[in-house]
Amino acid sequence: MSGHRSSFAQASETIQKDLNTMMAVLEENQDKIPEGEYLRGMNALGSLHNQKQNILQNQPRGGGGGANGWLTLDEVKEDDELYEQVLAVADNIVIELCGEDSSIYLNDNYNLVHRGEEGEIFQLLVNYKPEEGNAGYETSPMILHLALQTIMVRLFDDTYHELEIVRPVSCQCGWRGSQGNWDRHISNPRHQRWVITQRREQFEKSLEDARQRIVARREEGIVYIDELHETPAVKIAREEALAAAEAAGERVVFTTASGVLSWFN
Ligand SMILES: [Zn+2]
Repeated sequence: MSGHRSSFAQASETIQKDLNTMMAVLEENQDKIPEGEYLRGMNALGSLHNQKQNILQNQPRGGGGGANGWLTLDEVKEDDELYEQVLAVADNIVIELCGEDSSIYLNDNYNLVHRGEEGEIFQLLVNYKPEEGNAGYETSPMILHLALQTIMVRLFDDTYHELEIVRPVSCQCGWRGSQGNWDRHISNPRHQRWVITQRREQFEKSLEDARQRIVARREEGIVYIDELHETPAVKIAREEALAAAEAAGERVVFTTASGVLSWFN
């Protein structure tokens, strides 16, 4: 790739050097020639410069970019100068299709087009072709192609984001709404009350379960307390069982699930 790139850069530099020389000659002789001639020369140089850009952009640049040597959008993003050109063309096309208040440089928080116009703009992009006077006419096919891709990617992302916002969701508390309102919903008092109720019910269930399992077995005058995995519910159930044993004057033996006794009291 580097070989192709450097020959590309070399050709560009050589032509630019010649253009600079001619410009310098024109400047030096500005006083000696009619102003109209000077301007004609300068305009011709400007046109040559633009043509140089367009032609060189279209040259195969190697690097496995396909039969024509085209670069993919991802590859172009690594080349600041080229990517800037793609964005500039993309921006001109966006303004042409979407209007002056739109721009490819718009922050991601803003949609490229107004809601509901995505389909129409998408069709225009799919059918876009360079015609004299339109924004895609003055550039190379590769840059135009990448510019259209850039706009389509952006349009798709915007549309996808919009769809995500309105996507219907439901909460276990019974609420139904759109994804965009989810964050607001989970801080809603009604939802939070539901969460608290839910937690309380969960705890009461665990406590009931622990009360049933805390006493492994009973013998005359002895209560065998099962050493269950320590949870807040188990702690309460054990304290209740201990208090009950003490009140009844019973001895307490702690035992593991496997029946191993740990200690007497
Ligand atoms: Zn909820």
